Amino acid sequence: MDLPTVGKFFLLVMLKIALQSKGRLNEESLSLLASIGINVDEPKRKFISKARNFDIETLFLRDDDIPLVVASGTASLGIVGLNEVAEKGADVEIVKQLGFGGCRISLAIPKADKYEGLDYFRGKRIATSYPRILKDFLDKNGIEATIEIITGSVEIAPAAGIADCIFDIVSSGSTLVSNGLVEVERVFESEAVLIANKNMSAQDRDTLEEILFRIDSHLMSSGKKYLLMNIPTAALDQAVKILPAMRSPTVMPLASEGWCSLHSVVEADTLWEKVRLLKAIGAEGILVIDLDKIIL
Ligand code: ATP
Ligand code: MG
Repeated sequence: MDLPTVGKFFLLVMLKIALQSKGRLNEESLSLLASIGINVDEPKRKFISKARNFDIETLFLRDDDIPLVVASGTASLGIVGLNEVAEKGADVEIVKQLGFGGCRISLAIPKADKYEGLDYFRGKRIATSYPRILKDFLDKNGIEATIEIITGSVEIAPAAGIADCIFDIVSSGSTLVSNGLVEVERVFESEAVLIANKNMSAQDRDTLEEILFRIDSHLMSSGKKYLLMNIPTAALDQAVKILPAMRSPTVMPLASEGWCSLHSVVEADTLWEKVRLLKAIGAEGILVIDLDKIIL
C-alpha cells in the first residue's frame, strides 16, 4: 500500500463523535474535548470537522438527532443529555456521566392548585416535549392522563389553555415561577453523557479507551488543588494526619535543618479548613496550585 492510500484508509475509518452544533451543551462538549487534548475547530458551513491533533471526526448535529445517529453507527460516539437518550429510546451504551448540563424533568402545576400527590394528574392534560419519559412514568404509577406534545415553550401551555399542567426541563426553577407554576414531582435527573454505539469496530473501541482514560484523568482532577508548604519536621506527623493524600503526602528535606517541604492533593472545598489547621502547626510558604490532570 503506498502512503497516500494509507492516509485515505485512515480517513475512511476514523472514529466519529456527534456533538451538539449549538445550544447548551455545545461549548462544554468542545471544552471537555480540548481539556483532554482533542482540539476541534467548528466548521463554518459543513457539519463535519476533523480534530487538529487526534484521529477523530466530529459531526455537529441537533441534540435530538445524536442518540439515533450513535445507535445506528453513523457516529460511534456522542455527547448528549441523558434526557434525549431516554426520550429517543436509543439503544446505545452510556459510557460516562460528564458532570455538566445538569437538569431535571419535572411535573409542574399552577401555583393556585392544591397538590396532594400523583392522583392530581388523573384525567389531566399534561404538556411536554418528553412524551416517552412522561408516558413511562404515568404508566408505572397507574395514572391515566392526556399527553399534549409541544415542542416550543411548554411552560406557557397552562396559561394559554392548551394544558392543565406541564412536564418540562427545570434547572433553577425561575421559568416556572415566572409562569405561575410550581414543581411538584421530580421525575428524571439528567446530565451530559458520553454515549457509544454498541457494535463499534475494535479500532474505535481502542480510541474510546484512550478517550475514557483521558476523561477520567481530567474528571479526577476537578474540584482538587495541589498544596505545597514548608513545615517543621517535628510537626510532620500531625501534618500527614491533616492531609491524607492519594497514597501519602510527598515529603522532601529542606536545606535549613529541622524543616521539610510537604506536597499533597486536597479537595477544593476543604482547602481553607486544611490551610487553617496546617498554619496552626507551623506550616509556612503555603502554595495552592490548580490541578489539570490526575493520572493514577
Ligand atoms: P437543539 O437545537 O440542538 O435541538 P435544544 O434547544 O433542543 O437544542 P438546548 O436548550 O440547547 O436544546 O439543551 C440541550 C440540553 O441541555 C438539554 O437536552 C438538557 O440535557 C441540557 N440542559 C441543561 N439545563 C437545561 C435547561 N435549563 N433547559 C434546557 N436544557 C437544559
Ligand atoms: Mg433539541
